[in-house]
Amino acid sequence: MNNEKPSDEYKCPACQTTLAGRDILLWRPFSCPNCHEIIEPVFYPRGRGIGCLSTFLLVAVLLALYGMKWYWSALIGAGAGVLFSLLRVQVARRFWPKPYAVRRHEFRTETHGLLQWAELLESIATAEAWTDQLEHRLLVIDGQRSRDDSLENAAANSAQNFKRSLQGVPPPKKYRREVDLTLDCRRERMRLIARDLRFAAKP
Ligand SMILES: [Zn+2]
Repeated sequence: MNNEKPSDEYKCPACQTTLAGRDILLWRPFSCPNCHEIIEPVFYPRGRGIGCLSTFLLVAVLLALYGMKWYWSALIGAGAGVLFSLLRVQVARRFWPKPYAVRRHEFRTETHGLLQWAELLESIATAEAWTDQLEHRLLVIDGQRSRDDSLENAAANSAQNFKRSLQGVPPPKKYRREVDLTLDCRRERMRLIARDLRFAAKP
């Protein structure tokens, strides 16, 4: 976790080992150094639904008591509930950028898909130039992936970013911060993601 050591202790939910700050990756699910279970940071305490609902009820009931028509009260209450929920996330993000906890990562992809990504990343990590063969493999695997799995997304993004840096194409805006990463650093990142994908694929 950057250079900063978290003041809180994080424990692996699978084996209860205490995790050091450097073990915790913020941008993707990662493997526990002890049991290799894939775990991920959780940034906000749960209960967003309850916060949203209670704001909705409170605002709607108060407005109705003040004589507003019930449907307007309900509508404004619903808006306030959503707004409260969004604000809470913004405030948490601003003042509490550290993970709240770590939890087990739940995969939405089958073992076969994870292994395909691992193999592809390992091949890409050794490549000196972006070949048609790599392009083809990336297209095929990327076309099959489940887009809501964050480890697979990390695999796909690292492959795409490596391809761009081999081709000298500037990265999209949201990856600008990574523009300074050296090729070797990118290769290492891909190897680590491949390693974690292999841990995840083990029965
Ligand atoms: Zn563990």
